[in-house]
Amino acid sequence: MTPALEPVRPGAALGIFGGGQLGRMISVAASRMGYATRVLDPVPGCPASQVTRDHLVASYTDLQAARDLAGSTVAIACEFENVDAAALEVAERTTRVFPPARVLRIAQHRIKEKTTLRALGFPVPDFAAVLDQRSLDAAIEAIGLPGVLKTATMGYDGKGQQVIRQAGDARAACARLAPRAEPLIYESFVAFTHEISVIAARGLDGSIRCFPPFENIHRDGILDVTIAPARLPGQVLRAAEQMASGIIERLDSFGLICVEMFVTRDGGLLVNELAPRPHNSGHLTLDTGTTSQFEQLVRTMCNLPLGDTRPTIPAVMVNLLGDIWTRSGGDPDFAAALAVPGTHLHLYGKSEARPGRKMGHITVIANDVATALERALDARTRLEGTGSVKGRMK
Ligand code: AMP
Repeated sequence: MTPALEPVRPGAALGIFGGGQLGRMISVAASRMGYATRVLDPVPGCPASQVTRDHLVASYTDLQAARDLAGSTVAIACEFENVDAAALEVAERTTRVFPPARVLRIAQHRIKEKTTLRALGFPVPDFAAVLDQRSLDAAIEAIGLPGVLKTATMGYDGKGQQVIRQAGDARAACARLAPRAEPLIYESFVAFTHEISVIAARGLDGSIRCFPPFENIHRDGILDVTIAPARLPGQVLRAAEQMASGIIERLDSFGLICVEMFVTRDGGLLVNELAPRPHNSGHLTLDTGTTSQFEQLVRTMCNLPLGDTRPTIPAVMVNLLGDIWTRSGGDPDFAAALAVPGTHLHLYGKSEARPGRKMGHITVIANDVATALERALDARTRLEGTGSVKGRMK
C-alpha cells in the first residue's frame, strides 16, 4: 500500500507484534504521545499486556490474528526479528509495517543478512553457509580457525552458536547446532577491541537520524553493559554512524534499525548483525534527555518529524538478569540500588525470574562516563543485598 504522508493523529491505534519488554516500552512511548496500542503476543500477562489498551492473545503464525491487528491499527511495529514474516506480509496488505516484511526476512536469516550487506558494499566478517560436516570442513579450510558456527535462524542472546578453536571441535559443534539439518553459518572469529551499536531511524519521507554509537560489553553472549558515549576516537564513531545510515537507506527500510558492529585493532568496522527494531543497547535513551528510541520509532510510524538524538549527559546501562533474583533469594534490594545518585530503575513486569532472563535494567547518568559506569555496577551489586563494596567497608 502507498503510505499516506499526513501525520497520524493522536487517538489512533498502533499495533505491536510481540509483547515482551520492547513491546512494553514502545507501548508506553505511544501512549505518552496520545496513541492507543494493541499488542499481539501468545502469552497472557506478557510485559506489554500490562500497559497496552488491548492484548490479542494469538500465535505469531496466526494469519487471521495478523489480519485483525492490521485491520484495526494504522501502523504496526515488530519488537523482535522472529515474528513470522508471512504474517507481516498479510498485515502489510492493509497497514504500514515497521520494518517492512522484506527487511525482516533479511534480518531473521544470518546468511541472507551477511550476503545482502556484502552485496551492498558493507564490511562483514568472512563467512560461509554450512549444510553438513563436509561443507563445515570446507568453510574452515577457506576461512581458517578460530571461527564461530551459528544457526542461520532463530539465534539470539548468544544462543545457537559455538566458537570453534580447533578442527576437532567441528564435528561436535555441527551435531549440536544442526539436529534438524537447518542451515548454519561459519564466520571468522573477529579479535575485536570493542563492540558497538548504532541505532538509525528512517521516516517514510526518507529522513534519517542516528543515535551516537553505544559501546557494548557482553557476558555469555548476552548484552551486559552499555556505555554512552562510546570510548572511541571521533573518526571511528562518525564512520559507524555513516555505516548505519547507509545500511538503512540502501535497504530502503523504515522505522529503526540497530547495526551491531565490531571495532578492529586498526579502527576498522565489521557489521555483526542487524536488528530492525528497538534494541537493548538503546534503552539508556529513555534517561539521557534525548528522544528515546521508542519515541523515535513511534514518530516514524506516525509520520512525525524525527526527534533529536544527541544525549545531554553520559550514561551507562546494566541489564538485570534473573540470576540476580536467584542470588538475592527472590527479593532484590531496589531501595539500595536507587540510593545511588543518578540511578533509574526499569522493570519489565515478568513474574518468573529465570537465569539469563532479562527482568529489567538500570541506567545511571553522571557528568562523566567513568562515574556512571562505577555507579551503575555499584547499583547492580546492591540489588543482591550484599551492599556496595564501599558500604561493606564502612
Ligand atoms: P550475535 O548473536 O551474533 O550477536 O553474537 C553474540 C555475541 O557473540 C556478539 O556480541 C559477540 O560478542 C560474539 N560474537 C558473535 N560473532 C562473533 C565473531 N564472528 N567473532 C567474535 N565474536 C563474535
